[in-house]
Amino acid sequence: MQVQENISLKQYNTFGIDARARYFGKFSTMEALATLLDNSKVPAAFILGGGSNILLTKDIDGLVLKNEVKGIEEVGEDERYIYVEAGAGENWHQFVQYCISRNWAGLENLSLIPGNVGASPMQNIGAYGVEVKEVFNSLTAFHIHDKTIHTFTPGDCAFGYRESVFKRKYRNQFVIMRVCFRLRKDPVFHTGYGAIREELERMGVTTLNIKAIAQAVINIRSSKLPDPAVIGNAGSFFKNPSIEKSTYLKLKEKFPVIVGYDNPDGTVKLAAGWLIEHSGPKVGVSWKGYRVGDTGCHARQALVLVNYGHASGKEIYALSEAIMRSVENKFGVRLEREVNIY
Ligand code: FAD
Ligand code: NAP
Repeated sequence: MQVQENISLKQYNTFGIDARARYFGKFSTMEALATLLDNSKVPAAFILGGGSNILLTKDIDGLVLKNEVKGIEEVGEDERYIYVEAGAGENWHQFVQYCISRNWAGLENLSLIPGNVGASPMQNIGAYGVEVKEVFNSLTAFHIHDKTIHTFTPGDCAFGYRESVFKRKYRNQFVIMRVCFRLRKDPVFHTGYGAIREELERMGVTTLNIKAIAQAVINIRSSKLPDPAVIGNAGSFFKNPSIEKSTYLKLKEKFPVIVGYDNPDGTVKLAAGWLIEHSGPKVGVSWKGYRVGDTGCHARQALVLVNYGHASGKEIYALSEAIMRSVENKFGVRLEREVNIY
């Protein structure tokens, strides 16, 4: 596998940031990855999937490893489940559609999430009340330094809200090569979240099925979220913060329409989008729809920061800092970035 030098990463990140990688190598097998690492003059900087959850704030002075491991295979079944393994470089939404077309259930609420299969356990991606950890069976990963192959079971991954062991403890240490999912033969429907039920009604669906739920999710997402092919973004820039119930009740007294959802552990999850929409760069101005230069907060979803054309990663990062400061000043709540900063 050839290592390329001084490559623009603009086409490799959905923010469309024109940062450069000093070295860049694509691989589609374990052997090719090992060769790339053996031949590299510099250490690996990070692993790149679809680039839909990263913000590049500088040029990368190292080796960027682009995962292109492909293939989808049914690897087993039992009475209730189908076990299906996908290469980390498979496009996530295409994989979801592949499973839905075979009536394998569990991924329908996760339709139309950008990016690749490999990042799905790393991020524990989630949407409309379902997280990947619920369908995750195991994964195979390659250790960049030891060059050893490891299998991770759900217990090894320390899944949390948009979190896993790969995002913190093992950050940039393991290359996820293949992920095995455990999908249901008999579906369990999740329609209680967001606008899914109303959309199913609007679609005229009378008998619930996973294809209809996937289509409802696709319809809602397409109407709300900016398409990165049209306007650069990485989805929700911040996580929804969870706070103590007592703190929430005090906030509710001051801001009666604040949006919060009870977590099973007794804390309350605040909608970060609402906090951002109800704060701003100055009194009387909301961040929602705000633009400075080529950076801004999307007009339909304040949680999504956007690049209108030629924004730099540093400018988007600076906007995120200003948003975090103003939300903290107004609500006393510290936002945390979901997007991985490089
Ligand atoms: P990348 O951006 O390439 O990488 C993300 C991180 O994972 C990086 O730190 C990278 O080093 C690491 N990584 C990637 N591949 C590997 C690998 N093979 N091995 C080890 N580490 C790896 N996310 C949600 O959870 N829910 C949503 O509903 C959602 N909606 C979105 C909507 C839009 C419009 C956009 C732009 C993004 C959205 N996202 C959402 C965020 C994003 O799509 C997901 O986090 C996705 O899983 C990122 O995949 P990727 O392949 O693009 O990862
Ligand atoms: P929304 O439906 O407008 O809801 C706003 C927030 O409230 C969501 O972030 C969601 O939290 C929370 N929420 C809504 N209904 C809830 C319920 N019944 N129980 C608990 N929490 C609830 O959100 P949206 O922006 O259109 O996004 C819809 C879904 O897609 C969400 O799950 C969101 O996470 C996901 N999404 C993620 C990204 C990303 O980049 N990570 C981008 C776009 C959309 P949760 O986020 O915890 O689900």
